Amino acid sequence: MPPSAAAELAASGTTNALVACHYCDALYQRAALAPGERACCLRCGSPLYQDSRRAYRRQLPLTLTALILFLISNAYPIVAMDLQGVRTHTTLLGAVEALYADHMELVAFLVFATTILFPLTELLMMCYLLVPMTRHRMPAGFERIVRGICQTRPWGMIEVFMIGVLVTLVKLSSMAEVLPGVALWSFGALVVVLAALLSFDPRDLWQHLDEAPAP
Ligand SMILES: [Zn+2]
Repeated sequence: MPPSAAAELAASGTTNALVACHYCDALYQRAALAPGERACCLRCGSPLYQDSRRAYRRQLPLTLTALILFLISNAYPIVAMDLQGVRTHTTLLGAVEALYADHMELVAFLVFATTILFPLTELLMMCYLLVPMTRHRMPAGFERIVRGICQTRPWGMIEVFMIGVLVTLVKLSSMAEVLPGVALWSFGALVVVLAALLSFDPRDLWQHLDEAPAP
């Protein structure tokens, strides 16, 4: 949709919700968009918001899929290590412990935070919001959780996640060997699912909360 047409549509507003351009602060009234449409700022042409109904409907199945993949990725061994002459297979968490034991405390903490703590926190927060929303109920602390997701998102991004996994594998390369098994494939699938999940703007949850009438 051309920026002017989109902005006109946004300005003609059928709802009272206001939306501000992130780049130039121009204020518009939010209008309902057709599937696949995107509203742009009339003044600077930056994207304002897009129709997210289809993306919203995919959020809960994707979040649950990501949680299952996350559990599988962390339940199966990802590296084989030689420790004190004994060959052991260990999970990502075990690899983090090995980094810690090898006096790489900071790296161990960063890997733990970017590959386990932040992704898991965000997935659980999304579940906490989305499950009651499917029943058209507003979860307690909705506003705080949405803000929390917005704040942890930069740390839960795929690039950070992949760097965390890669750092573990590179740092441990001297004493560990990557296992091309269930955990590695599951991590690969998890990256794809996370990419689909992260394309949804959590602030749009407000819109879908407003739009949820009793069935
Ligand atoms: Zn603008």
